[in-house]
Amino acid sequence: MPDHILALDEGTTSARAIVFDREARETAVDQRPFASRFPRGGWVEQDPEEIWLTQLAAARNAVEKSGVGWDGIAAIGITNQRETTIVWDRATGEPIAPAIVWQCRRTAGACRKMTRAGHAARIAERTGLVLDAYFSGSKIAWILENVPDARARAEAGELAFGTVDTWLIYRLTGGRAFVIDRTNASRTLLMNLRAGEWDDDMLSLFGVPRAMLPEIVPSSGVAAVTDAQALGAEIPVAGIAGDQQAALFGQACFRPGLVKNTYGTGCFALMHTGGQAAVSRNRLLATTAAAESAAPRFAMEGAVFVAGAVVQWLRDEMGLIATAAESRQAAESVEDTAGVYFVPAFVGLGAPHWNADARGLLSGLTRGANRAHIVRAALESIAYQTRELTEAMEADSGDALTELRVDGGAAANDFLMQFQADILGAPVARPAYLETTALGAAYLAGLAAGVWSGTDELERFRQVDRIFEPAMDAARREELYAGWKAAVARAL
Ligand code: ADP
Repeated sequence: MPDHILALDEGTTSARAIVFDREARETAVDQRPFASRFPRGGWVEQDPEEIWLTQLAAARNAVEKSGVGWDGIAAIGITNQRETTIVWDRATGEPIAPAIVWQCRRTAGACRKMTRAGHAARIAERTGLVLDAYFSGSKIAWILENVPDARARAEAGELAFGTVDTWLIYRLTGGRAFVIDRTNASRTLLMNLRAGEWDDDMLSLFGVPRAMLPEIVPSSGVAAVTDAQALGAEIPVAGIAGDQQAALFGQACFRPGLVKNTYGTGCFALMHTGGQAAVSRNRLLATTAAAESAAPRFAMEGAVFVAGAVVQWLRDEMGLIATAAESRQAAESVEDTAGVYFVPAFVGLGAPHWNADARGLLSGLTRGANRAHIVRAALESIAYQTRELTEAMEADSGDALTELRVDGGAAANDFLMQFQADILGAPVARPAYLETTALGAAYLAGLAAGVWSGTDELERFRQVDRIFEPAMDAARREELYAGWKAAVARAL
């Protein structure tokens, strides 16, 4: 019996494929970068064909390297950059426009117009999201309005819309399967969050014909079988989830109240809220969580736009550090920031502020402030912004944070993780295996394929590399955090 799982992890900058064995150990990995294009200020595009071909190559290479062969692969799990929008011709499989990437701001004006027209509250109520260019809805509308004949063709059922999961599965199955999983669908602004179905009211608001939409399927379950001609083998696609939801699952956050935070370019914190979709009073998003069963599960989500990116900025724009890792030594070379705060609002501020016009600032500078203070303040800003998210989650859920499970590139920074624990007053748990996104997709697929019996078995695979316990006294913690709040108020 095949008992390995192939996870396809199609991120924003590269496609990865990882083979896991039945103990959830990585046996092979392959990664291929692909290009983004920036044709105008604020626009971000990718080539759907390149996304597919890099992912296909990564999959083939990973299986080759693993030595288990296609016969050894029980199922495929897919996880992907969310919200990115692809529209293609159903007859030929050819995209009619470049993929509009989640980061693309071309529809910001259209979203502002809709907000002024008073649609935001109804959208939030039905979809759990804020009305923003980030999500797929306005991106689909843009394609229908700007590609010649697109609207008429979409209405005639000649066009297909998909997020990246949909697109990859369409190609993997030689065009036979046209599906989107519930977590990805929850990022489109078109799905009724609680019902898990396309919402007619939202479709008419964004002008998206139902005929172009894929079928919504659960995150765990056989959604399709790959085509031997496309992949070289017939393998069930049995797990699908957007990257952040996959990471929540990969961190074994299966129950209400468990929270993970991913420290990448930005930060994404998700709290599991069980069978209940939260209504946030603190401007967090409500979204679908990936689940082992078809019964819907939900999460609250908050995003920080600039997290690890502030470290890149110190390195590339300011030249204050030579490598990202060096930020730790600089920060630890001083006792504190000497009153310096760094609010990295380079592109506005995300949750819970949602302010697009805020801009970055350094405050509290004195004649004695030096490079180390500024580097330390930059790292601390990542922890403060995370506390803003978890505080909002605590306020919305009524539950105190018991532990923060972390992953992502900047989670490697021990100074940052310790300061995070200190400023939260809660332990921070870093897993031994950091590819939680791919692991989550593998879990979802392996459960559906019967490789694993249930989430209890998956809990056993969870290995913690290190737990950072809070060591700061409460008075100091609140004093520092109050200083951060004052700095943010200035940035706003
Ligand atoms: P993404 O998936 O968003 O590309 P990654 O999870 O690969 O991000 O993390 C990369 C980010 O983490 C970069 O912004 C980088 O500056 C930051 N980073 C990487 N290593 C460290 C470190 N040791 N300390 C602080 N930041 C780091």
